[in-house]
Amino acid sequence: MKYVLVIPDGAADEPQLSLDGRTPLQAANTPNMDAVVQAGIVGRSDNVPLSMPSGSDVGTMSLFGYNPLEYHTGRAPLEAAAQGIELGANDWAIRCNLVSIVNGVMESFTAHQIANDLGAHLVSLMQNDLPAGSPWEFHAGVSYRNLLLYRSADGSAPFDPDTVTYPPHDLTDGPVGENLPAGPGGDQLQALMDRSKELFAADEQNLKAGKDGQPLANQIWLWGQGSRPALKPFEELYGLKGAVITAVDLLRGIGRLIGWQIVNVPGATGYLDTDYAAKGQAAIKTLEEGADFVVVHVEATDEASHEGDVKAKLDALARIDGDIVGPVHEYLKSQGDYRLLISPDHPTFLRTKTHSHGFVPFAIAGKGITPDDARTYDEVAAEYGETFRQGYELMGRFIKG
Ligand SMILES: [Zn+2]
Repeated sequence: MKYVLVIPDGAADEPQLSLDGRTPLQAANTPNMDAVVQAGIVGRSDNVPLSMPSGSDVGTMSLFGYNPLEYHTGRAPLEAAAQGIELGANDWAIRCNLVSIVNGVMESFTAHQIANDLGAHLVSLMQNDLPAGSPWEFHAGVSYRNLLLYRSADGSAPFDPDTVTYPPHDLTDGPVGENLPAGPGGDQLQALMDRSKELFAADEQNLKAGKDGQPLANQIWLWGQGSRPALKPFEELYGLKGAVITAVDLLRGIGRLIGWQIVNVPGATGYLDTDYAAKGQAAIKTLEEGADFVVVHVEATDEASHEGDVKAKLDALARIDGDIVGPVHEYLKSQGDYRLLISPDHPTFLRTKTHSHGFVPFAIAGKGITPDDARTYDEVAAEYGETFRQGYELMGRFIKG
């Protein structure tokens, strides 16, 4: 039997005045999603525990069938996994942003989208400054998004779950002074951040890229720390060989950690201009090549909400419906037994332009799923269906029927 999960990231939303009180899922042209509901069921699940920040890392972990309260250790270890960086059992990964802080205020958490080569150069300055035998290891990533590792030599590490850091994107235009790393190991992170100020202020390439004699990136910002998450392989838990199609690093990281194949699709951008049809076709091809379970993740719906663009959200939903859900459902039906699940990871509200907690609607069709009388795929229809307050339990329902 073949299984497919389609994730329209952040698709769940509120009723919109501009849509006569309908949600984007109600208003969008999504006949194929509705057909899934008509052949099966609609319901709702809550993927993000209230004690955790709402984001794709937590929501997707639930959606993949893993309790984030048990397995989520931080963002950085997932990004390290996406880059193929192995962490030892006592190693830690920390996100290392290049940022621009002016007069104590976070002016840009991306150092004005710093170029890859300048970013890598600044990260190498930090690495080369470390004394021999240092436990720290800097890894250049893309633009402002880099990683710092703590390699434990003796099984100990300065950090623990009480270590506190702050995502720099939450500090934009605000003072940073009271949001420095704190708790166990916080002083060591602060020391590295302080050292970066000295090194970056004296770097000629960095000064040339900046304005008015100021460096472009004037320091690193460390956050999102975590140790290696002890995720069990998906095949061991659910008995299926999985694969994931996504342009987003965090999801590739989770996929890699649970033993899934990572499918690269040319034209998949993680943005509104992504090649929807290529993703749909790649899902079909991956199933034909032997995967039992394929996840297709599309970020565009989430991006539309971050931009507060209702029209872009409707457009992205229609493209996911027409170019992915439609062809994939047709293919599955032509192959015999199957199950198809559609679900966002978390809501992303157009009104607030950010991720939210709360229920998201899901739809399941296929073998052993007895249709209810729901007709449409949206938040309102979902209120009358099955409810999973712990979203990670939905995977068991989907796989076992
Ligand atoms: Zn998301």
